[in-house]
Order: sequence, then C-alpha cells, then structure tokens
Amino acid sequence: MKVLAVNAGSSSLKFQVYEMPEEKVLISGLFERIGIDGSYTIKYQGEKNKKDVSLPTHKEAVQILIEELKNYHVVEDMAELKGVGHRVVHGGDKYADSVLITDEVVKVLEDLVPLAPLHNPANITVINVFRELVPEATQVAVFDTGFHQTMPIENYLYPVPYEWYEKYSVRKYGFHGTSHKYVSKRCQELLGKDDAKIIVCHIGNGGSISAIKDGKCIDTSMGLSPNAGIMMGTRAGDIDSSMILYMKNNAGMSVEEIDNALNKKSGLLGISGVSSDSRDIEDGVKEGNERCALAQKMYVRKIVNYIAQYYVLLGGADAICFTAGVGENSKGTRSDIISSLACLGIKIDPVKNDVRGEETLISTEDSTCKVYIIPTDEEVMIARDTYAFAQK
Ligand code: ADP
Repeated sequence: MKVLAVNAGSSSLKFQVYEMPEEKVLISGLFERIGIDGSYTIKYQGEKNKKDVSLPTHKEAVQILIEELKNYHVVEDMAELKGVGHRVVHGGDKYADSVLITDEVVKVLEDLVPLAPLHNPANITVINVFRELVPEATQVAVFDTGFHQTMPIENYLYPVPYEWYEKYSVRKYGFHGTSHKYVSKRCQELLGKDDAKIIVCHIGNGGSISAIKDGKCIDTSMGLSPNAGIMMGTRAGDIDSSMILYMKNNAGMSVEEIDNALNKKSGLLGISGVSSDSRDIEDGVKEGNERCALAQKMYVRKIVNYIAQYYVLLGGADAICFTAGVGENSKGTRSDIISSLACLGIKIDPVKNDVRGEETLISTEDSTCKVYIIPTDEEVMIARDTYAFAQK
C-alpha cells in the first residue's frame, strides 16, 4: 500500500511516499519558499532534482507534487495513494494519539490556532488541499504534542492562577513528540526492556529533552509553546517572565518585538552574534571566538540541567539518547554534555562517539547508564499511523 507522509511549515512542505508495510521510501522531496517565489527538490532512486517554480500558495505545491508522483511513475493513478498522513504541530489536550481527519477534526484544529499561530494554519491549509485534491485517500493527523499527553498534571501545570489553565488552556504541552516516541521506542528495543527509564535529547535547530518511563512521557522541556526549555538555535528557552515587561518599559520594544527576539534572535545566535548553526559555533570556538565559546558553554549547561533534573525525576536512567541535527552529528556537543554528567558515573568512549548519524551505543562498558545515538525518523511514524488507519 502506498502512503504519503506530509510535513508542512508556513513556507515549506516536506514529503515522503512509502510502500507499506515494508516502510520503503519510494520518493521524497521538499517544496520551499512557498508564498515568496518557490522551488522544489525531488529525491528519487538516489538522484536529486531541483526546479524553480512559482509557488504562490501551498495548493500549487500539492498540485505539482501530485503531477510529479505520476511523472516518476510512483503512482499511475492517484487512487493508488491510499493514505496521507499530516504532521500537525498542536493537538492541544484533545489528541493523545493520531486521528482520522474529519470535518470535525479540522474544526478542532482551527479552534487550536491561538495555541500555535505560526504552525497550525499551514497544517490546516495543506490538509484541506489534500482533502480536495485526493478525496479518496484516508487522511490522518499525527500530532507533535500527542506523545506528551501522558504527563501527570503536576508536571504539565504552571504555578500560575488556576483559571489560566481552566479558561485559556495555559499548560505545558511539549513538542517533537513523534521524535521522542520513535527514539524511546527504538531505545526500549535496543535495551530489550519495556519498562526502561529513558532520557531523550532531541537537539536540532529546535530542541527538547524528555523523561520517559514504561514507554510513556513523564515530563518534557518544551511548554505551552516550542520556545521553552533548553537554549536553541535562535530561541531563548526558559527565561524569567519579568524580562518581557522590563524590556517593554526600558527598551521601548513592543511585546511582539520582544517575543520575536526571544524566538528568532536569541539562543546560539543571540549569544554568539555569529550564527544559529552549531557547526558555525564549533568553528568559532576553534578560531578562538569568545562569544561562540560562551554560547556553546551555555547551550551545554541548559541541556545538562534538564538531563540532571530528569535523572532524579525518573529515579536514575537506563539510557540517554541523542537525536536530531546536533544530537546525531556533533560529537563535540555530545562529549561536552556527558563530561558534565561524570559525577553520575555516566561515561562515553571517545572512539565510539566519533560517528555521525548512525545508530550507535557510545557509552563505555563501566558507564552507569547507556548512551546512544539514535537517528530520529518522524516520517516513518507518520506513515505507520496512516497505514494503520488506511487498513481499517
Ligand atoms: P530542525 O529543528 O530545523 O528540524 P535539525 O534537527 O535538522 O533541525 O538540526 C539542524 C541543526 O543540526 C543545524 O542547525 C546544525 O546546528 C546541526 N548540525 C547538523 N549537522 C551538524 C554537524 N555535523 N555538526 C554539528 N551540528 C550539526
């Protein structure tokens, strides 16, 4: 059965077509700069093909995608595409699992827009376009927030007036759930233990840390929005909330400008003044740039603080897993993080750690906790859930 996994951003659309249940990727691609000018790249049988085209809206991207699936003979007729799975950023507290998309679900997603004003609108647009253009296919929503719905209330509430939660749904939701689920499940398999205590470090441009026990999320570092928790590429993560009023009163900035700076001009970029990309930060450190060194030190510190917190919350850990762009690729960052955990007896082997993007056990034999690199695969999770619904 052929199933399409779609991940739409405000100006981009990533896709992968799978042959299920084999989980074989038949074709993949990325549409970029939607609403600006437009281009797309298709990867088919190891070859990449890039084209510049006009993409005024997501609809044109989906139309081209459908044409290209036929051009590449991935499908001869769109009726062969039995399922379309959509990554949806915010499911609020409505969805702990993936859901079959109906008119009612689309209405709920619209109601959730205030919680994810930057992300959910693009997801809804693309869902509507696929429902119109491929009406026969089973459409499924897979939520970034879903996996975190098992957190106990004392871990997801903020200590603010209770009515904020009751009336405005102010609480921690957590994000990157599909990745945390994939990595922790894979780690359970590697450990051969369903009740394992696992700390997943999903560190890419965005980043979040999760504490998982018995396959369930107990706590996670992102919050009401994805700008909470650890320091990220351009996001500040946890800050003192009074900073917002202070900057409004003293720097003459509007709340929107401050929010924009906390999302887009902070993190590694804000501290280094050089870049949000950890590769540039590492180069800067090598060249003796002090602000890059400070940014790296702070970045590692924030991650270590969460790992330590979750180690205690879980009552120890069977494994720490690194995933996403930085976690999978940066041996220096992994090594800096684990060195800071030496007092817990956690150690990695520098030779085993000298890898990029490969599933590897990098801890030493005598480490008190196993440390893995597990490359994430959010798309395959979307395809699996979509396949499950399409079979029904
Ligand atoms: P996103 O949150 O956008 O999905 P990714 O998980 O793709 O981000 O991670 C992107 C980040 O991964 C880049 O910004 C970069 O900092 C980091 N990265 C990628 N390759 C390397 C590498 N070889 N060394 C260090 N960092 C890397």
